[in-house]
Amino acid sequence: MNQQAACIFCRIERGDAPCALVYRDDRVLAFMDIQPVTRGHTLIVTREHFENVYDVSEQALVAVASLSRRLATAIREVIAPEGLRVVQLNGAAAGQTVFHYHMHLIPRTAGEPDRFHGRVTADSAELAAVAVQLEAALERSTVQSA
Ligand code: 5GP
Ligand code: ZN
Repeated sequence: MNQQAACIFCRIERGDAPCALVYRDDRVLAFMDIQPVTRGHTLIVTREHFENVYDVSEQALVAVASLSRRLATAIREVIAPEGLRVVQLNGAAAGQTVFHYHMHLIPRTAGEPDRFHGRVTADSAELAAVAVQLEAALERSTVQSA
């Protein structure tokens, strides 16, 4: 099996593995992290397989950055966290565990555990419910800015 065939984010992109999808366009996907640090923890993933910041294409990078701002606003509307971490890990030493370029958006409240990875797999119905709310908030922001 080659690397892309085994990659979990490529499998999700192909529809071979499930996810709680928030957004999709021709360059990026956004879906809920299966082991969220907090409620609303979302990933933005390039549709094409790039390993990390060193090899991601300029166009994909710009698409991820652009969506990160729109999604941040949607998370603020739906979750209303005190803060929001927008983080991206490169290499195992930095904590990267899925070697397909992606960005985390992690809602945060002061005093909560200070980590970039959750430890418990979330209930898929709960993830789907948040995803629906975020998708709707993103769509509203698209209509407003059109
Ligand atoms: P990294 O450590 O590479 O920055 O983050 C990878 C993230 O992907 C982790 O937060 C992990 O919970 C998440 N993840 C791993 N496998 C899956 C999966 O099958 N589905 C979803 N939705 N998230 C996943
Ligand atoms: Zn991949």
